[in-house]
Amino acid sequence: MGKNKELKELRQKIKKLSKDQKDLAQQLEQLQQVLAFSDTSSGVPAPSITASAWTAIYPPPLERGKYSPRYAQYRVSNVQQLTPTVIRVAGVPASELKADIQGLLGEYIYVITGKSGEVLPEPRTEGKKPAWDQPISSTKYTVRQHNTETGELEINIVLHERGAGTTWARNVAVGDIMHVVGAKSGYRTGGAYDFYLMAGDETGLPGMARWAEGLPKDARGALFIEVPGTASRQNLKLPPGVEVIWVDSLQVGALATAVQGYPLPQGSIFAWLAGESTSLQPLRSWVRKELKMPKGHGYSKGYWKRK
Ligand SMILES: Cc1cc2nc3c(=O)[nH]c(=O)nc-3n(C[C@H](O)[C@H](O)[C@H](O)COP(=O)(O)OP(=O)(O)OC[C@H]3O[C@@H](n4cnc5c(N)ncnc54)[C@H](O)[C@@H]3O)c2cc1C
Repeated sequence: MGKNKELKELRQKIKKLSKDQKDLAQQLEQLQQVLAFSDTSSGVPAPSITASAWTAIYPPPLERGKYSPRYAQYRVSNVQQLTPTVIRVAGVPASELKADIQGLLGEYIYVITGKSGEVLPEPRTEGKKPAWDQPISSTKYTVRQHNTETGELEINIVLHERGAGTTWARNVAVGDIMHVVGAKSGYRTGGAYDFYLMAGDETGLPGMARWAEGLPKDARGALFIEVPGTASRQNLKLPPGVEVIWVDSLQVGALATAVQGYPLPQGSIFAWLAGESTSLQPLRSWVRKELKMPKGHGYSKGYWKRK
């Protein structure tokens, strides 16, 4: 081998060695930070922790599912007053096209009703778009359950004073057609978290419950659910390590006080906030500022606004 070639090869080896050394040093630093983090008892991350160390603690961030929302009809198979404030409506597919339901976290559909909540008849169909001879309204409802074999779809509707969705839920009966567009906006998690923190009101409950009921048996978490009274509590089939804390009060601040007083364990935390906007506001900034949660590991959405 010529001396020049030998020299070139040696240089390449040194270059590779220094890259490996750099990678190892970085891994060491991350591991040290993770170990230091695990030693804290509060679970609130040390402020000095770097972004790369967070990456080592957390699974990959949430990913938004790709949906093809479409119009579909479901024949109502069950209407049940679940609690004094919630009506369960289930339907089986009644059209060739079914809603694009993918089983992802928080996916929702639009229920199409008459402007004042009337149960609509068959639409006129122009191309793929349905049309009715009366004004219509659409309301977002989260998929509470979906049976992949029968296609049965369940939503839970919170009753309140007025509104097309509420009136429709009070009027709809078994055998009626439920007109649906969807599904939309579900999320996929990139792996397991050490703790699942979910909070909201009865409008957020269907999304929280569907997902928490599907968590692995060894999952740990807490669901904080604000309801108007004890009669509105529901039975949820959760893994043993996931508890429900019912907040029997609709006072602004009650939900945030309950969540912030909870002793969170150490490790990666997933946060899901869905419900009345004003009630969620203090929790949104708490998650960002106090928990210092990295981006993409939580969801927060106001589902309606108290006037
Ligand atoms: C992504 C997403 C998912 C949702 N999932 C669900 C779900 O699974 N179940 C569910 O019940 N809701 C859910 N909601 C909330 C629901 O879409 C709203 O509450 C909607 O406003 C209800 O429509 P409505 O026609 O009954 O009343 P609207 O005509 O919209 O409102 C009439 C009046 O009632 C007030 N109001 C609206 N909602 C409520 C409420 N929940 N309690 C008290 N007052 C209210 C309004 O401020 C307004 O003054 C979801 C919302 C979003 C964005």
